[in-house]
Amino acid sequence: MKITDIKPFPVWIGHRNQMLVKVETDEGLFGWGESGLSGREKAVQGAVEHFREFLIGRDPTLIGAIWQEVYRSQYFEGGRVLQAALSAIDIALHDIKGKALGVPVHQLLGGKQREVIPTFASTSSAKADTMIEQAQKLMAAGWTAIRFFPDFTDEGRIFEPREHIASTARACVRGREALGDEVVLGIDWHHRLSVAEAASFCQKMPSGTLDFLEEPIRDETPEAYEQLRRLTDVPFAIGEEFASKWQFLPYIERGLHEFNRIDICNVGGLTEAMKVAGWSEAHYVDMMPHNPLGPVCTAATIHFSAAVANFAWLETRVNPDDLYGGGAADDVFLQQPRLEGAVYPVPDTPGLGIEIDEAALTREAFRFWEAPHLRRRDGSVTNW
Ligand SMILES: [Mg+2]
Repeated sequence: MKITDIKPFPVWIGHRNQMLVKVETDEGLFGWGESGLSGREKAVQGAVEHFREFLIGRDPTLIGAIWQEVYRSQYFEGGRVLQAALSAIDIALHDIKGKALGVPVHQLLGGKQREVIPTFASTSSAKADTMIEQAQKLMAAGWTAIRFFPDFTDEGRIFEPREHIASTARACVRGREALGDEVVLGIDWHHRLSVAEAASFCQKMPSGTLDFLEEPIRDETPEAYEQLRRLTDVPFAIGEEFASKWQFLPYIERGLHEFNRIDICNVGGLTEAMKVAGWSEAHYVDMMPHNPLGPVCTAATIHFSAAVANFAWLETRVNPDDLYGGGAADDVFLQQPRLEGAVYPVPDTPGLGIEIDEAALTREAFRFWEAPHLRRRDGSVTNW
C-alpha cells in the first residue's frame, strides 16, 4: 500500500475552524486526522503541504518510521505548527492501518483496558449561582468530575487578574459546599496568572476545595511550577499545549504535575502520545486528555484513552443546559463518537470509526479568527 495524496481541510464548522487532514492510498483506503493548534490553521495547512511532498509513495503502515522522518526531516526540528501537522497525519495513518487490518485503532495501541471512557464536563457560567446549578445538572446526568472557569467574561477585552481571584475562589468554595465532598472539582485558568496570583487564588480556599488546578500559569518555565508547588497543595493539570515528549520531559521527570492534559492533535499524534503515557505511568501521573476540537480529535482520543492504563477523565464538550443537543455538524460527520450519559463507549469498528461527507466538508469555508486579544487596565497585553 502506498500514500497517493495528503489533503488539508481547514474549515469553519460550528463555532471554530477545524484543521482536518485526509491521507489517501492506492488501495482505496483513506484515513482522517485533525490538528490542534487552535488558530493559525493556514500555517498548519502549509506544513501539511510540505510533508505531502515527500510522503507520497510511502507505505502508510510504517507509522513510527514516518513520524521520525517527518520530525527529523528539517534542520530545525519540532515546534507547535509542525507538530500539529504531524499529529493530524499520524492520526490518519492509524485510521488507515486499523481499516487495513480490520481492527479499531485501540487494538493498534495494545487493546482496550476499559469498556467505557469516563469524561469530565465543564460549567459555562462564571457566576456562582448559575455555575452551581449547571454543575448539579451535570451531576444528575452522571458526571463525577466537573471543571469550573474563572469569574470572568472577555466581552470588554479587559482581564485584570486581581479583580477575579477573590470572587473565583469564593465561587469555588461555595461550589464545594453545595456539591459535596465526593465530586471531583477543578478549574482552568487558561495560563492567565502569575505565580504570585495563582498562589493567592489557592490560598483563599480551604485545602480540598479543588481537586485540580488547570494551567494557572504559562508553561515555558518548569521552575515556575516548582515555585508554585511550594505555595499550594492543589494538584496541577497541565500539558495541552506541549508539542512533543521533550516538552513533557521536565514536568514528568521532576514530578511537577499530577494530571497530564495531553492533546493528541498537538503532541505528535497517537505515536507520541503513547510514549508520553508510558513515561507518565512510570511516575504515577494520570492522563486527562484535552479535547476541544472536532469529532476526529474526540475519536482518536477515545482510542488512546481506551488503551492506556493511567487514565483519569477525557474532556468532553457539553452544554450543561442542553446536554446532548447541538452536536457537531451531523451533515459533515456522518459517523462520530456519541456520549452515553457521562461516558463514551469504546468503538469496535475498524479504524477511528469516523465517517465524513467530503462534499459537505468542502462546502464549509475557512474563516480568519483571532482569539480575544486581552489587555489589563493599564493597556498592557495579557493572555486570553
Ligand atoms: Mg486548559
